Amino acid sequence: RETGWQARAEIDLGAIRHNTATVLAAAGTEVMAVVKGDGYGHGALSVARAALAGGATWLGTASLAEAMRLRAAGITAPVLAWLVPPYVPRDSAVVAGIHLSASSTEELDALRGAALRTGVPALVHLKADTGLGRGGARPEQWPALVGAAARSAADGLVRVVGVWSHLVHVDDPGHPEHRRQIGRFTRALDTAAAAGLRDVCRHLANSAAALDLPAARFDMVRAGSALYGLTPRAGPGTVLRPSMALRARVAATKRLGAGCGVGYGHTYVTDRPATVALIPLGYAHGVPRAAGNRCHVWLGGARRPIIGRVSMDQLVVECGDDPVAVGDVATLLGPGVHGEPTAHDWAAALGTVSYEVVTNLGGDRIDRTYL
Ligand code: PLP
Repeated sequence: RETGWQARAEIDLGAIRHNTATVLAAAGTEVMAVVKGDGYGHGALSVARAALAGGATWLGTASLAEAMRLRAAGITAPVLAWLVPPYVPRDSAVVAGIHLSASSTEELDALRGAALRTGVPALVHLKADTGLGRGGARPEQWPALVGAAARSAADGLVRVVGVWSHLVHVDDPGHPEHRRQIGRFTRALDTAAAAGLRDVCRHLANSAAALDLPAARFDMVRAGSALYGLTPRAGPGTVLRPSMALRARVAATKRLGAGCGVGYGHTYVTDRPATVALIPLGYAHGVPRAAGNRCHVWLGGARRPIIGRVSMDQLVVECGDDPVAVGDVATLLGPGVHGEPTAHDWAAALGTVSYEVVTNLGGDRIDRTYL
């Protein structure tokens, strides 16, 4: 028993350092630690520091705000923000040396404007759409983008630091589509080189590709899920350690008879007398409402079902006839080594991915303890 806390996410920064070093050793390239989504719910700043200590040399975010927060906290490593629409003011980003992605000549023009106003060359990574159909210039738009970037590089307003793309089948390193994407990426690099953009950092791979698809590694891999120990597949001999545990202490217990409805809408009715435990975590903290009647927690040395609907701030666990007391620690998610549910178990029960499970716990929804 511990005292003084009610619910918390425990973040194992040693695991993040270990996982980063593991990806670095497996990929043999530079590693960009992806810390968007508040570090996949682990706390972007702490994760960034741990990943840099583990050997990452770059950090990746989606929004500019996420990147600027890292800078404001004193992180000096190169940071790439890849989702910065042309309407977002970027002068301060250029001054702070944040690398921005450009998928279109409009985005490039926005960077040129910022460079002109601030007198600081903008750092850019040109993004090719090699099949994902999301961001990035399509093959027919690519020559115009690299041509404009080469001219901006020549007039000193822009430094083209990288050329990059993103995979479609990020969780399946064996998927045949990878070969086609690598082919398109290579052609995009050739076109860029022909336009004079030769000395660039080429990056395509996410975690799974970093570990298991050597042809996708190029100069740098962008690793997120592997750093958090979430990647379902890893190369031979590659051990990744899950870095988050979600725990809460039993707030109350009670004995219910058979035939008692539990929670809003009575979606669960006891079929026998049972002790139930009230856990002070709910969807306000990022536990999905759909976890009711589907997911389990580890409590008192056993996996026990969450019964009834998850409420905003609380949920109920069925404990049968076992002795469970106020203050006992329930583990909702953990590394799985003791039998506690993992983020993958939750994702499988909920029809989602482990990324979403942990990211929902981000922001300031829940207290964090760093180990
Ligand atoms: N690169 C980009 C552009 C991403 O959006 C992400 C995450 O979704 C990653 C890399 C990291 O992917 P993973 O968590 O699978 O390593």
